[in-house]
Amino acid sequence: MYYNSKTIVYFDGNFLKAEEAGADLYGQSLHYGYSVFEGIKSYSTDYGTKIFKAEEHYERLKKSAELMHIPFDYSVSQLTDLTYELLERNGFSDAYIRPLVTCSPNMSLSKGKESYLSLLAWEWSNGYLADKMKIMTSGFQRPNPKAFKIEAKVGGHYVNSILACQEAKDKGYDEALLLDEYGNVAESSGANIFYEKEGTLFTPAKGSILPGITRQTVFEICSELHIPVKETFFKPEEMRGADAAFFCGTAAEIVALDSLDDVPFTKDWEDTASGKVQQAYQKLVRVLSL
Ligand code: PMP
Repeated sequence: MYYNSKTIVYFDGNFLKAEEAGADLYGQSLHYGYSVFEGIKSYSTDYGTKIFKAEEHYERLKKSAELMHIPFDYSVSQLTDLTYELLERNGFSDAYIRPLVTCSPNMSLSKGKESYLSLLAWEWSNGYLADKMKIMTSGFQRPNPKAFKIEAKVGGHYVNSILACQEAKDKGYDEALLLDEYGNVAESSGANIFYEKEGTLFTPAKGSILPGITRQTVFEICSELHIPVKETFFKPEEMRGADAAFFCGTAAEIVALDSLDDVPFTKDWEDTASGKVQQAYQKLVRVLSL
């Protein structure tokens, strides 16, 4: 359940009950996936409830709207303040926050004329050290960066994610690993990927990925912990059987991977640099320093 009779949402300038908020049936967002959104987490920390990397998420939301030609005037500080108010009105601390920007009634294929901001939140605390995931190389490619603004977080892009994720689940895996048009590893349906060999971390270079805020946080953690990390293009065979691998994203946090296409990652997670990164991330979101 994402909401109940008490849940409050923000919609187009007002706080109202989730049950009373409705979507417009005549908008381009519903028909064409022409919307932009974010996925943000708040945590109960030593300093009270804190939204992790609020500025980075709201900068990306504004950038996504700009790249999609969707008019959107909220400032980062307005968005952040509204989000704290939303959390307070709902009494949430550990929560997932979903800002969504949709467009006004218009069935044409020209740019959005007006937009509406919705802010939704639901309680969420990750099972830290969730089960390791078994993943498979997807039959679906990531959207071609020449066909989409791949660095924007756009509703329509996620049809590709749904197809890939469901294909993996139907075949008995937990998640999909999508490749780019050249057969290089890109990312999962909703998270970035790293693998580890002899103490060095490798992650796909930008091009066909959503360059995640958590991915950037991993770079910061690696720099702090003196763990070498390389952004590069590589094929799935280069990472099969590596020492370790993980997905990272706001929702997933850092999730260890068990195997790729049934080939296990070989080292004990506790003995890997990846395991150290996972612990550091848990500390960072709750204590706000490493
Ligand atoms: N890739 C995709 C396709 C995603 O949907 C997400 C989640 N937003 C990520 C990567 C990870 O991004 P972030 O770390 O900013 O949550």
